[in-house]
Amino acid sequence: MKAKVYLSRTGKDESPSSLAGKVKELSIRVGLKELIKKDDLVALKIHFGEKGGPGYIHPDTLKKQISFIKQAGGKPFLTDTNTLYTGDRSNAVDHLQLASEHGFSLRNLGIPVVIGDGLRGENQISVETEKGIISRAHLSGVARTAQVIIGLTHATGHLLTGFAGTLKNIGMGLAGRGGKLAQHSGLLPEILDECIGCGTCREWCPADAIQIKNEKAVINPKTCYGCGECLAVCPHKSVKVSWDESSSNVQKKIAEYCRAILKNKKSCFLNFALKITKDCDCMGKPSPSMVPDIGILASRDPIALDRATLELINQQAGENIFKTHYPEIDPLVQITHGEKIGLGLQEYELIQI
Ligand code: SF4
Ligand code: SF4
Repeated sequence: MKAKVYLSRTGKDESPSSLAGKVKELSIRVGLKELIKKDDLVALKIHFGEKGGPGYIHPDTLKKQISFIKQAGGKPFLTDTNTLYTGDRSNAVDHLQLASEHGFSLRNLGIPVVIGDGLRGENQISVETEKGIISRAHLSGVARTAQVIIGLTHATGHLLTGFAGTLKNIGMGLAGRGGKLAQHSGLLPEILDECIGCGTCREWCPADAIQIKNEKAVINPKTCYGCGECLAVCPHKSVKVSWDESSSNVQKKIAEYCRAILKNKKSCFLNFALKITKDCDCMGKPSPSMVPDIGILASRDPIALDRATLELINQQAGENIFKTHYPEIDPLVQITHGEKIGLGLQEYELIQI
């Protein structure tokens, strides 16, 4: 059996309004209309870009898809979650400001932007998962509640996973703060010397795992389950995450989070293989394309979609471009592990439209 992946090729520097027609056509081909029931909350998961960086999907390319979803009876909204690291996307206020500056606004697109895990990442829910590397997943509130999830992903390289496509956008990008922490680290959070013992983290800790001793917070490793709430709420930046996980484990956890997020959801995915840079859109600076633009791909199967996207990029480059840039990383780990846990199929039929 093969999964269907649709490809709409694009010309050099094609206009956003022309791309919008292709996005709509791809949405029709993957059966988006059939996925949506009246009044379904439809999450369009996207990266709003980083301050100073041009690397994000142009908002105007989504206009026809948004109208199509509304006509089908759905209630679309744009969403992303806050970052673990500090910056302009680490809380909902700065994040919404940045999204609006990049054209992701009610005024421009006619739909709201909802930051999926709350003001500082507190809107998350922990669920048991099928056993794998993880046995519990911390999901953003949006991932839990939205009825339909549409992944809108700018395909790029990535310094931790080699390749960043739909699996990364959904598995990491719709995880709650604790999920991001768990994916990046094999360790629990630590308290730094800067802690002043204010007790805010203790009030928020859902596991009652924090005590204040000698005016410092102390985490009990036996009861802490790594939800990351303390990291989110500490007003003094005194909770530390170790970014210590291997690429291979990060990729496997991303696939397992993807499975947890998409469980019982209606979903489809688009990869934008345009302006494909070595680093992801979090870098916040202009960066040259590794290969000429390819087009936009769409599928109901996230594994087939990422595999097809990665292979098309390598074909376009005439080499394994991800290996060239990140020789230590095998970006196929996320895809092969995803197939192994039932997230989709690596075998695909590419249908050019
Ligand atoms: S919230 Fe921060 S400063 Fe306050 S006790 Fe917790 S770690 Fe220390
Ligand atoms: S990460 Fe651990 S200590 Fe911090 S809030 Fe969550 S359970 Fe509590």
